[in-house]
Amino acid sequence: MANSEDLFKKIIGHCKEYGFIFQSSEIYDGLSAAYDYGPNGVELKNNIKDYWWKSMVNMHENIVGIDSSIFMHPKTWKASGHLDAFNDPLIDNKDSNKRYRADVLIENYLTKIENKIQKDIDKASKKFGETFDEEEFIKTNARIIERNKKIQEIKSSLNQYLSNVDLERVKKLIEDLEIKCPISGTCNWTEVRQFNLMFKTELGSISESSSEIYLRPETAQGIFVNFLNVQKSSRMKIPFGIAQIGKAFRNEIIARQFIFRMREFEQMEMQFFVKPGEEMKWYDFWKKSRLNWHENLSLGNENYRFHDHESLAHYANAACDIEFKFPFGFKELEGIHSRTDFDLKAHMEYSGKKMQYFDPETNKHYIPYVVETSIGLDRMFLAILSSSYKEEKLDDQEVRIVLKIPPQIAPVKLAVLPLTKKDKLPEKAREILKSLQLNFSCQYEEKDSIGKRYRRQDAIGTPYCITVDHETLEDDTITLRNRDDMSQERIKISELKSKISEKLDVANLF
Ligand code: ATP
Repeated sequence: MANSEDLFKKIIGHCKEYGFIFQSSEIYDGLSAAYDYGPNGVELKNNIKDYWWKSMVNMHENIVGIDSSIFMHPKTWKASGHLDAFNDPLIDNKDSNKRYRADVLIENYLTKIENKIQKDIDKASKKFGETFDEEEFIKTNARIIERNKKIQEIKSSLNQYLSNVDLERVKKLIEDLEIKCPISGTCNWTEVRQFNLMFKTELGSISESSSEIYLRPETAQGIFVNFLNVQKSSRMKIPFGIAQIGKAFRNEIIARQFIFRMREFEQMEMQFFVKPGEEMKWYDFWKKSRLNWHENLSLGNENYRFHDHESLAHYANAACDIEFKFPFGFKELEGIHSRTDFDLKAHMEYSGKKMQYFDPETNKHYIPYVVETSIGLDRMFLAILSSSYKEEKLDDQEVRIVLKIPPQIAPVKLAVLPLTKKDKLPEKAREILKSLQLNFSCQYEEKDSIGKRYRRQDAIGTPYCITVDHETLEDDTITLRNRDDMSQERIKISELKSKISEKLDVANLF
């Protein structure tokens, strides 16, 4: 397999060629950090949403869903702290005029050190073979100890400076580490400045009295402001959760890495309201539960790891990320945050409305604490695509590109393929297609050789192909071809549904 950078480029090219993802407004040379999902992309995206919704809402009696609006009263963002604190530190290189996130420059520097450590580990592992004890090696190798110490020191300084909003020292850290601009290669940096990530727009026409509003930077606030509406109308008792899938907008300073960091993206968030004092129990519960959700997809458990936050956001008393091994390294895929009563309390203060829960057992009112799970749908999409993309060398030296997407969420589940365009085979194939279409997303293809058609289906991750040939006309049997091992079996049409249903059913991921 190609190196990670090549692999990432290949995945981006593959996404375009096979109708998963296109650059937004491509005919006008594109709009940076905005992407459109094509015919296969939208199917995969919907299936990911479906898997999340089923596991969070349908499978929990005490979680309900909402769909709140993107525009919200501007006071929402004052109360939530986003107007004052939703900032990224930006820095420009004076020679290239390129802009960077100061913290990301430092994180990338740390990744380079981590890569060096990994190289040493790989070398030693090769040298010592089976007797190699990685843990022991990391603990005892002088160079690795020194590098890890350096990483810890830099991390802790960065966290301290960021929480104190001490931007001068962030700049000094960049200079001390001699971090260079990748374009100009110089250390000629401007001051570090704060940049608010929210997009502003106007509500109402200019001539009338218009007011400034924002595109929501997270879906969570739509849940908080509806806390009482939902709790009362659905008669929910604490602990309970409210889930939502929807668009969020952030004016990211640098938005590279394809759909990993976009300015318009989708979140799948769930806010779980609990009794104060019980939040750590639920925080641990949701950490486990969410990791389990990921692992059930079988993308490789080694591709996930937790990263506990050392410096916490203004609203949190505990927080961690579930990181995924993307082609460009381990990066945040999902956040799990214990948000205390920060949001409800703030909305109560700014709106003057009581945001409290009445506990029928103790006859007392209190403001619930909140544990949040927040996953980026687009990042999940990228996680699935990047771990499913395989180039396999076949016996005849040909290379087949196959997306080994979990069958339950594959964009197309079945392809129905008549062997030829003649002899009433298309008619028979269409009859079969009709009997399956309502249960599974299917494709019908009759153009090109059967081998080419198999390859096209492999490239979009279709788990099964059904081939209709002359024998089918005689005995109502078809060939069922399996994507992953390319095995083929002859089965009766009448047995087809029951044979594949179980494997394609999202329910078997639970
Ligand atoms: P990052 O540190 O990568 O900027 P974040 O910590 O700001 O992310 P959260 O505010 O916790 O992210 O948002 C929850 C989830 O939303 C993230 O785990 C991620 O999956 C997704 N997300 C956040 N920003 C973006 C973006 N610009 N593009 C795509 N997904 C995003």
